[in-house]
Amino acid sequence: MLRLVVLGAAAGGGVPQWNCGCRVCQAARTEHPELRSTQASIAISADGDHWFLINASPDLRQQLIATPQLHPQAGKLRHSPISGVILTNGEIDAIAGLLSMREGWPFTIYAHPKVLSILEANGIFNVLSEKNVRRLPIEVDNTFEPNLPDGSPSGIEILSFAVPGKSAWYLEGEVHPSSKDSAGDTIGLRVRDKASGKYFYFLAACAAINDDLRSRLAGAPLIFFDGTVWRDDELIAAGLGNKTGQDMGHIAMSGDHGAIQSLAGLDIGRKIFLHINNSNPALLHASPEREIAERAGWQFPADGTEIVL
Ligand SMILES: [Zn+2]
Repeated sequence: MLRLVVLGAAAGGGVPQWNCGCRVCQAARTEHPELRSTQASIAISADGDHWFLINASPDLRQQLIATPQLHPQAGKLRHSPISGVILTNGEIDAIAGLLSMREGWPFTIYAHPKVLSILEANGIFNVLSEKNVRRLPIEVDNTFEPNLPDGSPSGIEILSFAVPGKSAWYLEGEVHPSSKDSAGDTIGLRVRDKASGKYFYFLAACAAINDDLRSRLAGAPLIFFDGTVWRDDELIAAGLGNKTGQDMGHIAMSGDHGAIQSLAGLDIGRKIFLHINNSNPALLHASPEREIAERAGWQFPADGTEIVL
């Protein structure tokens, strides 16, 4: 049995974003608190006792308070059910939460060597001492099974694969700390429970959907997919920024080459958008955009949503 908790569903900045007055952020601050959402991360477990995070958002502390499954075991002075963190990219909204895990509890970070090189190049992450916090490279197109703190297998098999994407935003125009080629900045994951064979896909960032990706996702019981923007030029059109979704490495939900159209008819059991930016009108429950997405079978999770596979 694979247990999942959506710790947060929002893109960078969350909903509402601290400095944003767009209609979604305004509504989330005032009459529609149900729109509030923390930055994207999910927790997974095969045994219900030991958990792994997929990405560690800057909202991690708040997310852990809100999630009883991730509280310290009763009666223990120091404890966390979190055995490891799997990183799918090096963006701030995927890695900054690691800094909230610095109080001496042992766990393992799993990431592509390119993302590990970003952690290494930023001395602030040395607060996670190597004595307690191991950093293990993820090899693309190979499976691995994260371990529990005592070294025993977790029962979770993870396959990583390259996804069209971009380097972390803050590295734009900078020399990437890794000397390797461009692959590895963004990866997708297939997460499988070894006992039951149940699995799901996780792609919080994806710039394009090609035939390879379509055939990979076909027939999956569950996918979490990049829902950053509704349309590519949404931030520019709303006067909120000067970048398109593509500039940021994110496919749009709508349009002929968007996620909804590209992933239609693939017999996917449950389709959930994740990493949804506050500029995205589909966040508004009564919007025509939301209706189109829901009619195509897509769901928008509230923070704290639990799923059992
Ligand atoms: Zn906003």
